[in-house]
Amino acid sequence: MNQPKFNIGDKVKHFAYGKGVILGNYHKRAGSYYWHIQYENDSFGYNQESNLKLLNNSIKPYLEEVVTEIVRNYNPNYGDDRICKCGHPYYRHFDTYENMSTCGCKYCGCFTFEEENN
Ligand SMILES: [Zn+2]
Ligand SMILES: [Zn+2]
Repeated sequence: MNQPKFNIGDKVKHFAYGKGVILGNYHKRAGSYYWHIQYENDSFGYNQESNLKLLNNSIKPYLEEVVTEIVRNYNPNYGDDRICKCGHPYYRHFDTYENMSTCGCKYCGCFTFEEENN
């Protein structure tokens, strides 16, 4: 009971609700895992793992993993005029014509803003 038994996308059968697909996140509650499931009749459930059975045809060639990507965006509250180690202000490290994407400093090759501490 320490590891969850299913993966997202697995086909399972609930003893009362029938066949469904695991949609997402499990949560541990009172010692058992619960899963969000979409059933074949388009109803949704949040059901306890012990009431679900993995169907044989759900074994897949790849195990999938959700990867979190950190995207760094312009922070309008940081202070546009703060000065970077490269000598240029904060806002110059973003492209105003490209939705403030992090393009690196417009005046030099500095890619990451690091505030100059005197
Ligand atoms: Zn810089
Ligand atoms: Zn610079």
